[in-house]
Amino acid sequence: MTDMADQSPFQHARTPGQKPETTRKRRIPRRVKLIAYLVTASVTGAATIWAFDHYAPPQHNPMRPLSITHPVGAATYFKIMDLQGNETACFAVLDEAGIQYTRLEDSDPGENCGLYGAATLNRSMVPYSATLQMTCPLTTALAIWERQIAGPLSIEMLGSPVTRIETYGSFSCRRMYGRTSGRWSEHASANAVDIMGFRLADGRLITLEKHWGTPTPEGEFLAEVRDQSCRIFSIVLGPDYNAAHKDHFHFDLGGGDVCS
Ligand SMILES: [Zn+2]
Repeated sequence: MTDMADQSPFQHARTPGQKPETTRKRRIPRRVKLIAYLVTASVTGAATIWAFDHYAPPQHNPMRPLSITHPVGAATYFKIMDLQGNETACFAVLDEAGIQYTRLEDSDPGENCGLYGAATLNRSMVPYSATLQMTCPLTTALAIWERQIAGPLSIEMLGSPVTRIETYGSFSCRRMYGRTSGRWSEHASANAVDIMGFRLADGRLITLEKHWGTPTPEGEFLAEVRDQSCRIFSIVLGPDYNAAHKDHFHFDLGGGDVCS
């Protein structure tokens, strides 16, 4: 159907004796308006993207590469997850931060277990109580967690830096909770790590078993670590989740969203 606004000017031709419409404003066709709108929107959108890309802090900007030295921001988790399946980019992030690791050969010790794109962590900001074999993205996430979450919170809330991180380990070819049936754990693909406590420079040993849920600075520190950890890991399980996690945090990058 023809829109009135798009009618041909011939339909408005003067009849004999009619005065010319000299005062009538010339109408802009809708098609032209639409094109003008689209051009304006595109320019405005491009300008917005340009301004965001140039002025947004890198931790909030998904277009900027991930760096372990950046604070945790709105884009950090997504950038960590983007490293899955991109080994070259992932190990470059570790290299840039000076994380020392040993690449592991891909191995497939069982039907649902395996090490793919994984490494042994040799040296990060602080030592760990056990050898950790993890996927590169999990190694990256843990390095960010150390430097941007656990480390600063320890100084801020407890007045002493972390000097060692107590861990139950990472890679373990097993099903969830060590059961003989059911889903396989993210530990089976080196995509999970368990943290049980922190040794501080002043000699204190903060453990979930002893301090979790206590009205102490140590208890508040652990609660804040749990909350902040949820910003960079897919799954964060601790004593609030169930009895199986009463003495440690479980962090993994398996996807999903649990913070408990
Ligand atoms: Zn675990």
